[in-house]
Amino acid sequence: MLIDTTKIRHLSGQTISFSLQGNLETIVIGGEVLPLDGPVEVKGEIHNTGRTYLVKGTITARFQRVCGRCLKNFTAAVETELEVEYCHASEVREEDREREEFEVFEGNSIDLTERVTESLYLAIPMKALCSEDCQGMCPQCGQDLNLGKCGCETDKVDPRMKVLEKLLKS
Ligand SMILES: [Zn+2]
Ligand SMILES: [Zn+2]
Repeated sequence: MLIDTTKIRHLSGQTISFSLQGNLETIVIGGEVLPLDGPVEVKGEIHNTGRTYLVKGTITARFQRVCGRCLKNFTAAVETELEVEYCHASEVREEDREREEFEVFEGNSIDLTERVTESLYLAIPMKALCSEDCQGMCPQCGQDLNLGKCGCETDKVDPRMKVLEKLLKS
């Protein structure tokens, strides 16, 4: 995912917008492989500060996931922000070497791929839920409880509550 800097290179103090689409390496969260459902999009602005480029944008991506409660496949949409300052290798000064406030790039283009991947890793929830109120599966017969109740006798008391109950009684 490359931003061409040739248009803004000589426009010190100015901002131009950009829109990118691309693919990323496979994302794996907690052992779950998340295939991309369509390309990742990044839309935003690049600002020439005079020496560096400030890139701000919104990342949107869709992943195929498996619901942790009902085990159904669903598409999870993720949206997150990106803000990174880049400095061309030729503009890096000696005193900058100690600082890590910006990324260094070479040539005409800034490659956002790594930072986009990082931002997505931070934004994707560990636990996949097809919906906030997913009812999950019956632990006894495996029925998808979103489709209706099964006939199983389920103990309504949470086992942790039982322990508490015992403690209170003794
Ligand atoms: Zn679910
Ligand atoms: Zn059941």
